[in-house]
Amino acid sequence: MSVKIISRATWGAAPWDNDPRSDGPAYVPLSSRREFFVHYDGAHHVGRTGYAVPRAIEAQHLAQGWSGVGYHFVVDQAGNIYEGRGWTRTGAHCPGFNVSGIGVQIAVGGDQEPSEAALAACRALYDEACQRTGRTLAKRGHRDGIATLCPGPRLYAWVQAGMPAKGYQPPTGGTAPTGVARYQVTINGLSYGYGAEGSHVTRVGEALVAKGHGDAYEVGPGPKWSDADTKNYAAYQRSLGFSGDDADGVPGESSLRSLLGTLPGKTTTAKPKPKPKPKPPAFPGRSAFGPGKRNANVTRLGEALVAKGYGRFYKVGPGPSWSNADRNAVRAFQRAQGWTGSDADGYPGPETWRRLVA
Ligand SMILES: [Zn+2]
Repeated sequence: MSVKIISRATWGAAPWDNDPRSDGPAYVPLSSRREFFVHYDGAHHVGRTGYAVPRAIEAQHLAQGWSGVGYHFVVDQAGNIYEGRGWTRTGAHCPGFNVSGIGVQIAVGGDQEPSEAALAACRALYDEACQRTGRTLAKRGHRDGIATLCPGPRLYAWVQAGMPAKGYQPPTGGTAPTGVARYQVTINGLSYGYGAEGSHVTRVGEALVAKGHGDAYEVGPGPKWSDADTKNYAAYQRSLGFSGDDADGVPGESSLRSLLGTLPGKTTTAKPKPKPKPKPPAFPGRSAFGPGKRNANVTRLGEALVAKGYGRFYKVGPGPSWSNADRNAVRAFQRAQGWTGSDADGYPGPETWRRLVA
């Protein structure tokens, strides 16, 4: 069972970067996710409803020079969930955590009371995120990542209380009376876990037997995922050093990859789609960067730095106005390339641009 998400196409999102040729924010595999961040909309109550909720956020984020909505998802007071960056793109919601953290905004502001429907939807999204990633994501408020009031006192207390939602049951199918996990994850478009079916399930079973983790099979592995598959897979996960929820017998991407060598399914590389990439943006010239400069290339550079792990330099942003944070992040990146002197002055030249953005 999956939560219902209103797609970008349905709510009428603009093309990424307001540019139909744009590929959008960088791909991030589910295996990179570690945290689930809750946000609010800011100081003011939100009165908008329906598609106007994500559209207003999009307009604001595009105006900041971002690619589009920076949150992975947005939840409104009616409990609707809108797709922002979605499951597998880098976010722009919390510097330093845009790759490892899934960011969700509950569209309330100030002291506005979040509705039970909104909290239940956010909680369902959290559980779905844990299923998809195959791990228990850390529950975070934006202020756990950076100094900010976000997500406001009410939502932050809710996160700290463990995100309870009245009458809400995690959509996992629960745990069998035997204590064996019974839920499914989707990896590369294929399902794994109790009840999943297909030749890829047989392939997992055969690989488990080959690695010496076939004890729970009474008959050989087959195409329908059973508790025996889960028990054997859990034994394999423990052999890799996983424990707790990470060794519950439902595959995560990394254990599956090490079991099979490659991931079965529609793609075997980190590329989400095989369509030809538009030409990367050309180096705009040194004059695009530096004190007082404000343009989309500064944003693009900043987002690329964040995606490469240099987000710690940003207290806010990145954004279109050149800042000391941009300079410090560029310098750190340049030094990491082994460059020194004027090659590591914190201003991008063509080679810095090529390695980061192109
Ligand atoms: Zn926030």
